[in-house]
Amino acid sequence: MSTSVRTTCAYCGVGCGILATPTGARSASIAGDPDHPANRGKLCSKGTHLGETIGLEGRLLTPMIGQRRASWDKALDLVARRFRDTIAQHGPGSVAFYVSGQLLTEDYYVANKLMKGFIGSANIDTNSRLCMASAVAGHNRAFGEDIVAASYDDLDAADLIVLVGSNTAWCHPIVYQRIRARCAAGAKLVVIDPRRTETADEADLHLAIRPGTDVALMNGLLAWCREAGVIDDVYLAAHVATPENFWDRVGEGSDLWSVARICDVPPQDLRRFFELFAAHPRTVTMFSQGVNQSLSGTDQVNAITNLHLATGRIGKPGAAPFSITGQPNAMGGREVGGLASSLAAHMDFTPDNIARVGRFWAAPNMATKAGLKAVDLFRELGHGRIKAIWVMATNPAVSMPDAGRVREALAACPFVVVSDVIAETDTSLHAHVRLPATAWGEKDGTVTNSDRTVSRQRAFLPPPGEAQPDWWIVTQVARRMGWKTAFAYDRAADIWREHCRLSTYENGGAGSPGGRLFALPGHAAAGNAAYDAMAPFRWGGAPFADGRFPTADGRARLVSVAQKPVAAPLANWPMTLNTGRYRDHWHSMTRTGLSPKLARHREEPLVEIHPDDAARLGIVDRGLARVITPQGDSVFRASVVATQRAGDLFVPIHWTDHTARGGRAGLLPRPLADSVSGQPGFKLTPARIEPV
Ligand code: SF4
Repeated sequence: MSTSVRTTCAYCGVGCGILATPTGARSASIAGDPDHPANRGKLCSKGTHLGETIGLEGRLLTPMIGQRRASWDKALDLVARRFRDTIAQHGPGSVAFYVSGQLLTEDYYVANKLMKGFIGSANIDTNSRLCMASAVAGHNRAFGEDIVAASYDDLDAADLIVLVGSNTAWCHPIVYQRIRARCAAGAKLVVIDPRRTETADEADLHLAIRPGTDVALMNGLLAWCREAGVIDDVYLAAHVATPENFWDRVGEGSDLWSVARICDVPPQDLRRFFELFAAHPRTVTMFSQGVNQSLSGTDQVNAITNLHLATGRIGKPGAAPFSITGQPNAMGGREVGGLASSLAAHMDFTPDNIARVGRFWAAPNMATKAGLKAVDLFRELGHGRIKAIWVMATNPAVSMPDAGRVREALAACPFVVVSDVIAETDTSLHAHVRLPATAWGEKDGTVTNSDRTVSRQRAFLPPPGEAQPDWWIVTQVARRMGWKTAFAYDRAADIWREHCRLSTYENGGAGSPGGRLFALPGHAAAGNAAYDAMAPFRWGGAPFADGRFPTADGRARLVSVAQKPVAAPLANWPMTLNTGRYRDHWHSMTRTGLSPKLARHREEPLVEIHPDDAARLGIVDRGLARVITPQGDSVFRASVVATQRAGDLFVPIHWTDHTARGGRAGLLPRPLADSVSGQPGFKLTPARIEPV
C-alpha cells in the first residue's frame, strides 16, 4: 500500500499543504494536510483536482534542438556555448533569464547566482514582477526591507478585514474561508473593488471605487483618522519617521466629499468605511493584484502602509497590512533575489551588499547594478539588444502586456531557450532549444507562501522521460560555462543550505549596522535527513513586534503619496479594461486545462460589461464582442452583468492561442509599468468594444 507524501499545492500563494498518495504509475489521490498551518486540511477546487493534472498529456519529455530530439549533453553544450559566445561578443548585458514564481526556491537560487555572480549581469527577472513587485517596492520604502508584516493568524484575531483589489473568494479560496470564519465570529469585512465580485457579494460593505483611485481613498481615510483622533502619536514618535509636510499633503483634497467624488462612491458608504476603520484597532488590510497591477501600484501600497503605521496597527495580533501573493513561490523568489532589482537574500544593490555577496559566492563577475525589469527586458529583446534569452517555467508570449510584441521579439531573437514541462507553448514555439523540466509531483524543494511559511514540495512520482529538475538544468549549463566548483550541487538540499548560509552571512539582524530581518539560522547546517523531514515553518517570527524596523535608524517611514489625476475617457477609447483570474483556472491553463471538472466552471473567456453599456453599444448577452485597445484586439463572448461598473470591462487572463481562437487578454494591455516597481499596469487600459 502506498504511503502519503506531504507536499504543497502547485497553485496560489496561500501555500496549502497536501497529502498525495500515489495510486498508479501516473495517478494519485489528493487530500489537504491537516497539519499544515496554511490550510489545516482544507483545499479549494484547484487543489482538490490536482490528481487529474499529473498525466503526461502535452509533456516535453526529451531535450529538443529545433524540432529534433537531442541528448542532454548536446543540448546543454549548445546552450552554454551560445550564452558564452554572446557574452564574449556583446557583453553580459546582452543575455537574460526570464523565470517564474512556479520555480522552487532552490531553482531560483542557482539561476540568480549564475546570472548575478558569474555572468555579471542582473538581467534576470520573473513573472512575479507581474504579480507583486509593487508590494516589494512599497515594503522596501516603508519598512526598509521586503518584509510581510502579517500572518494568516492575524486574520483569526482581526475585528475588521479590508480587502483591496482582491477577489479572494476565487483567487485565494482557503484564506477566504478563514476570513469568513472570522466574520462568522463577528469581524466585519469591507471589500474595495470596482467589480462586485463573489467576495464583494458577501461583504458588510462594498466600495465599488472608480479604478485607479485607491490612493485618494486611503489618503482620505488617513485624513479622517487624524480628525477623529485615531492616529497613534506615541507609536509614530517612537517608531516612525514622518517626512516634512506629510500631513499637509495627506490633507489636500481629502475631505470626505472630495474623496467620494474622486472615487465615485456614495459619501454615506465612504463614511461608513471610515467609521468602521476608526472603530476597530485590530484591522488587517489585505491587498492583491488590484493594487499591485497599477501604474501607481507602489504608491497604493504605501497609502496602505501609511495608514497602518500612523494608527500603530502593525506588529500586533490582528493588525497589519498584508500583501497576498499570486504564485506558489513568489516569496521564495523574492528571498533569493530572483528579481532584476534585488541582489540576493533580501539585499539590494548597494556597494556593501555587492561586495558581501561577491565574497560569499567567490563570484568572478558580480553584477554591479540592477538589471532589466520584465517590461524593459522584453522591450530590449524587441530592439535586438538582448541576443540570448532563457525562459524558465513561464509563458511570456501570453502573460506579458502587449503580448503580440513580445512574441515578435522572441521570434527575432538569435537564441531562445525554454525550459518547461509543456512541449508546446506560445513561447516555446520560438525556442531554438527546449529543455524538459520536472513538474509538480516530480520535483523536490521548498516554497514560501504569502505569510512567509516555508514548506517542502516533495516528489511522489518518478520523473517522466528525460525530464530533470530546473536547478539541475541550470547548474549543468553553469558548469559547462566554466564554473564547475561554484555549481557543484548534488541535490536540492545542498542549494537550500547555501541559501540559508547566505541569509545569515555577515547579517547581524535588524538593529545591527546593515542588518536585515531575513535570516534562516538553524537551517544552514541541517543535514539531508533534516531537509527531507522539514516541517513547515515561518521565518522571522513577528517582525516589528519590538517596534524596530530594518532601517538604519530602526524606524519605519511614512511615504508621501498623492492621487494622480484621473484621466478623462478618450474619444476613441471611452472604456477602461481590467483583467483577472477565474476561480478554477490558473495562468495559461497548462495544468488546470487538463481537468474536465475545473474546465466546467468557465468554459470560455467572457468579457463582462454593464447592461447600460451593452444596450448603448448593441452588445447582447452571450453574443460575440471585440475588445480593442491601442495595443491590439481580441474577440470574447459577452457577459452582460450589473456587477460590472458602467464604463468598465473585465476579461480573464487564461486563454491562449493553444486554447482558443479568441479571448487573448495578453494582447490588450499597454507595456507600461509603475515607475518605482516596474510592475506592469494591467488594470487601467483604455479600450472600446464593439459587437462582432
Ligand atoms: Fe492550492 Fe491556493 Fe487552493 Fe490552497 S487556496 S488549494 S494553495 S489553489
